[in-house]
Amino acid sequence: MALTAAERSKRYRDNKKKCTETHEAYLKKERERYQKRKEQGQYSYSGKSEREMNLIRRKWKTAKRNDREKKKQETAAVAFMENNTPTSSPATSPVRQVIENTHQKRSGKNRSRKNRKKTKCELKRLSDQKERFRKLWERSRKMIVRLKTIKTKHKIQKTAVCTNVKKQMPMMKKENKTRLRQLKAVRTFLEEDVNSTLAPGKKDTVTSRQIKKQKRFLNDTMLNLYKKFIETHPHEKMSYVTFSRLRPFWIVQKNVESRNTCLCKLHENIKLRIGKLSQLKVILDKDPDMVARSLVCEQFSKACAYGECKECKERTIRKNDEFEDDMMGQQISYHQWVNRAETINTKDGTRTVQKTVKQTEFSTAENLLKETTELMREKYIKHIYNVSHQYKVLKEKKDNITNSEAVIHVDFSENYNCKLSEEIQAMHFGGSRNQISLHTVVLYTHTKTESFCTVSENTYHGPAAIWAHLRPILSHLKENYPEVKTVHFVSDGPCTQYRSKNHFFLFDKEMMQLGFTSSTWNFTEAGHGKSAADGIGATVKRTADRIVAFGGDITNSLDFYNKVSKALQSVRLFHANNEDIDMYKSQIPKDLPTIKGTLKLHQVLLHKEQVGHLALKVLSCFCKWPDNCECYPGETPNYLFGTKKGIFVLTYARVCNDNM
Ligand SMILES: [Zn+2]
Ligand SMILES: [Zn+2]
Ligand SMILES: [Zn+2]
Repeated sequence: MALTAAERSKRYRDNKKKCTETHEAYLKKERERYQKRKEQGQYSYSGKSEREMNLIRRKWKTAKRNDREKKKQETAAVAFMENNTPTSSPATSPVRQVIENTHQKRSGKNRSRKNRKKTKCELKRLSDQKERFRKLWERSRKMIVRLKTIKTKHKIQKTAVCTNVKKQMPMMKKENKTRLRQLKAVRTFLEEDVNSTLAPGKKDTVTSRQIKKQKRFLNDTMLNLYKKFIETHPHEKMSYVTFSRLRPFWIVQKNVESRNTCLCKLHENIKLRIGKLSQLKVILDKDPDMVARSLVCEQFSKACAYGECKECKERTIRKNDEFEDDMMGQQISYHQWVNRAETINTKDGTRTVQKTVKQTEFSTAENLLKETTELMREKYIKHIYNVSHQYKVLKEKKDNITNSEAVIHVDFSENYNCKLSEEIQAMHFGGSRNQISLHTVVLYTHTKTESFCTVSENTYHGPAAIWAHLRPILSHLKENYPEVKTVHFVSDGPCTQYRSKNHFFLFDKEMMQLGFTSSTWNFTEAGHGKSAADGIGATVKRTADRIVAFGGDITNSLDFYNKVSKALQSVRLFHANNEDIDMYKSQIPKDLPTIKGTLKLHQVLLHKEQVGHLALKVLSCFCKWPDNCECYPGETPNYLFGTKKGIFVLTYARVCNDNM
């Protein structure tokens, strides 16, 4: 076993001591060297007094003692460790002992140095490779994304092509043909004005698959409409589910919000009353129309509706037999829509406005049943008869239009409030905003249907305004359809606008002046006149709003006319001048006699052969057209504008019909 350097020097010293002479000589030499260095003052204590030396010696002694004590403790600790530690496993220790203290140790060190270097190189190579793979992976990933996008695009194009092909060739398959016919039938049926009502608001639209449509509200439940459809289309074999599925997306059920905007007060009130009665189980039927049907004959004729039929005149609403008679006196509450005058405070003082509000009423079950029966007998049955009759007759006219005829549907749209793209708050909320009145017209001729809207800064909606608004459209009709000799007008019938003697006067005068041979003015039943004309109003206003939204200003009627007519292709716009309105106003004689029963009228007819003569009818009829028939005469069946000494007088050409 090789010795350490310390062991080697110890062995050398021990050997030296064994030879006494040499050792003595060595010690002597050392002592002399010490004395010499001491005299030279090479030690720290050189030249110190005896007293000082004693102090130093004492310090040395203490230090030496401490040193010894420390060594002793260390030896004890090592001994303790050796006695109490289990021997290390022989598997490693001998090898380790071998490696230690040999030259192998050195070569091992060299080897490990070499290995470290090699590993470093390998690590560098691998990390370079990793980076290469990462880049490759990234490239592939991007390529996959690109390929996927291309695939989707291709798929979409493929589907689009398929859809187009399907659209173009539905006739290829028999099933498709049937389906298409059914779809068309259901759509036409549901779009009829009896079955659904066009929503009037410009926001009442619904969009599906990028097709924007004005909403229509169903007038009845889908189940009732299905029953009606099956009755009217006996050749169509269709289930209720299919019927519901074929409903176009823009024809929707009425909801609470939409109820306020288009509402027939009578219909709603009857519905509320019948609803309450059936809820209390006083009657069995829930459906107002079913109740109404029970009050008339199987063949629902005009005589039944107007209370002239001896068969059904006395019928009353049948009470539920299970409902106890003594319960009839109990107090109940129900809701009704009523017109109420409300005063509102404005800048110029107070103003009274008519508002339709829902209010709670109290009564007994007996009274409610009695009153409801009366209301049905007097108004409701007549009302539903009128609605369906007017609709049926006017639809027939529209569908069978000859080339010498035209049908014009007119309506005033709600006024448009002028808007600036960046409005100041005061203008937004104050009353200083300009209003524009819009009069909408749908013109049906034998070749096509056209839409018009006349714009005016004058918000007067009376007879003079109507004719000022109609004038450009009638000129357009004269120019483009010179073959048209007869015009049938259709409108709703507010008595301040279309259903008034002043309006009839201008109607007669204008139509004759423009050279038409004959003309009729037909009124839809109150609350049921919403039609295509409303849709035009909504479209026009929406376009105007869009212009404002894109930064344009609409401050007056001319602005509106200029900007909207540029933006809108489907509706033709005209501007009605203030002067025209004033001109028509001045033409109306102040003392036109009143016409009895104006409110009940639904048709006014005039003919070139009888200038200044109007035939008035309670319901529209074209059974002998172009000749006049004698059906449904009004309370005043004929109205004659005479010219005695320049004063217009009214004479009756016929004695009143007592039935009316
Ligand atoms: Zn109604
Ligand atoms: Zn009857
Ligand atoms: Zn007739």
